Amino acid sequence: MSKFFYNVAIAVPLRQAFTYHSNQQIIPGTRVAVKFGRTNKLGIVTEVISEANIKTKPIHMVLDDLPIFSKTELKILKWASDYYLHPIGEVINSFLPTNLRQTKNTFEAETMIKSNREIIEQNLEFETILNSEQIKAVKFLNELKGFTPTLLHGVTGSGKTEVYIRCIYEQLLKNKSVLLLAPEIALTPQLESRLRNQFGDSVGIFHSKMTPSARYKAWKKFKSGEIKVIIGTRSAVMMPAPKLGLIIVDEEHDASYKQQEGFKFSARDIAIKRAQMIKIPIILGSATPSLRTLKLVEERKFKTISLTKRVTQKSPPKFSILDINEVKLISGLAPQAIEAISQTLKQKKQAMIFINRRGFAPQFICSYCDWKAMCNSCDSSLVFHHQVARLICHRCDSAFGVPTHCPSCSKAQLSFHGTGTEQLEETLKELFPGTSIHRVDRDSTAKVGSLETILSEINNAETGILIGTQMLIKGHDFPNLELVVTVDVDQGITSLNSSAVEEMGQQLIQVAGRAGRSDGNATVLVQSRYVNDQNLLQLRSGNYLNFAKSLMKQRQATNQPPYTFEATIKASSPKAQTNIEMLTYAKQFIDTSTCVLIGPIPAMQSKVRGSYHHHLVIQANTRINLNKLLIYLADSLTNDKNAISKKVRWSINVDPIEF
Ligand code: ADP
Ligand code: ZN
Ligand code: ZN
Repeated sequence: MSKFFYNVAIAVPLRQAFTYHSNQQIIPGTRVAVKFGRTNKLGIVTEVISEANIKTKPIHMVLDDLPIFSKTELKILKWASDYYLHPIGEVINSFLPTNLRQTKNTFEAETMIKSNREIIEQNLEFETILNSEQIKAVKFLNELKGFTPTLLHGVTGSGKTEVYIRCIYEQLLKNKSVLLLAPEIALTPQLESRLRNQFGDSVGIFHSKMTPSARYKAWKKFKSGEIKVIIGTRSAVMMPAPKLGLIIVDEEHDASYKQQEGFKFSARDIAIKRAQMIKIPIILGSATPSLRTLKLVEERKFKTISLTKRVTQKSPPKFSILDINEVKLISGLAPQAIEAISQTLKQKKQAMIFINRRGFAPQFICSYCDWKAMCNSCDSSLVFHHQVARLICHRCDSAFGVPTHCPSCSKAQLSFHGTGTEQLEETLKELFPGTSIHRVDRDSTAKVGSLETILSEINNAETGILIGTQMLIKGHDFPNLELVVTVDVDQGITSLNSSAVEEMGQQLIQVAGRAGRSDGNATVLVQSRYVNDQNLLQLRSGNYLNFAKSLMKQRQATNQPPYTFEATIKASSPKAQTNIEMLTYAKQFIDTSTCVLIGPIPAMQSKVRGSYHHHLVIQANTRINLNKLLIYLADSLTNDKNAISKKVRWSINVDPIEF
């Protein structure tokens, strides 16, 4: 009997595949059950090899009749494993539907396939008539051939989604399917309803808040071709599709495309790689493109097409920067801002307060001895939440009772400081009694469907006040909104994190985009203590590209991303000293002739749930150099006989956003 050898990826924290044998012929991409150590594990055959020069164990069982991933899809997964220095088995596992991560289930393919013709014939009519810019963009995008990454830069309200719909239609005509990525679950319902309107049941969704069985169903239908269009969040980026014709990454600048825990991948970047490997176009859409994308456009590696006008023809809101240095604030608001809100309400319009802090007050302090309420297990101040009467840690979600007397000096001189969404809501209720006030943050939208309810209430109310964190400013349209007040963008100016300024600019432009869709007199009031900040002044014109260009010059001059390629090596353990020792030891494996090396330094979140976090920051001049030195480092640490690297949990983060 002949014996075949296979490399099998197994979900264990080792960056290699393992060789097994079988007398069956197995197509790569098929799931198998194998013995690993003493346990039975799920594996995926990644390649057939001609012979093995080590003693191999047999594959127990072949689980599926058909491979889960195609050869090309496996290649992309392998690329992701190499690029992010993350074990191939874990990479593959993270893109498997939950029930296929177990050896007891078999994958059975769907067979019912509706032809694209049928779908298209039912949906010949489009609801909107495109304007000339949209027509031009659609023509441009539909003529793209092969791997052509393209930025669709459309100002907020310029009708990007309408353009996507025509591009999807074009793919359906060619009997292809389409993957549309959105950065957040909250943005999928509106995309879904617009796409379903056009393409009916051939549209599916895929995200982590769906039940495993609903997710599996969508996954199977997309793989079989019954669903032609998937709208999904980052976990959807590797959904198998036999005839993928186009990938669209909506709001491509959004940091949510990067997974921060475990396998720290960027769905935007894997999407680009996927498009490259299967030689198809990819559209990156945004009103506020990332500097990384703009750099690639500048280098002519990406094409670009713009929508410069709002569909409504209404002029965008005007920015006005409000100096709050000498001003007494009321719950974070300057009197001038309160007056503007009052005027807006008088005109029966809506006003929005954008503040990126939930809860009532971010600090709870003793004025006698300076004691400050801190989390027991994180280095983070506790946030006072009035509604639940608790002090809550926003890192680990621990909740504590609110003391009446200072735990340190016993005096009854405790008070809260700073402003959060809850406090603003209470203050504004007092200032404007009888006005409809809606608060949108993680607390007010915890229940499934509650965000949709609040959003539809807001859209049905003619006038009123909206208070919200960044959740409120992503993608939603508020036709009656005429005033936006931003409370705390200064964090973006003062942060040491190099991407904070970029994010501040994107947030300001995005928040402005929610306003002024009605009659063109909208204003964005930006409260700041840094009114002469160069980047803030750039934003005043509302022209994001000018802001981005100026920021790119600063980045280039200081050798910051996207002009350098970055990674962090993080060490976590219950003792800060152990982290520092390990990272100091690790430095010997890093070739500093091709990179700048910083650290060990405490991570921004230096203590979470009782664990300390430190890291090394590596900045290399080329992507290849970065990857080379990370491979050497990871292999050295993995195979290291010195016990020090075993004393901490360490991980590598390529293209980090959080530090
Ligand atoms: P963006 O994603 O660029 O912010 P959308 O695609 O959501 O913009 O479009 C904003 C609004 O304008 C939507 O309500 C959409 O239905 C509408 N719209 C888009 N294109 C047109 C058009 N050509 N004519 C009329 N309305 C349009
Ligand atoms: Zn005290
Ligand atoms: Zn905590």
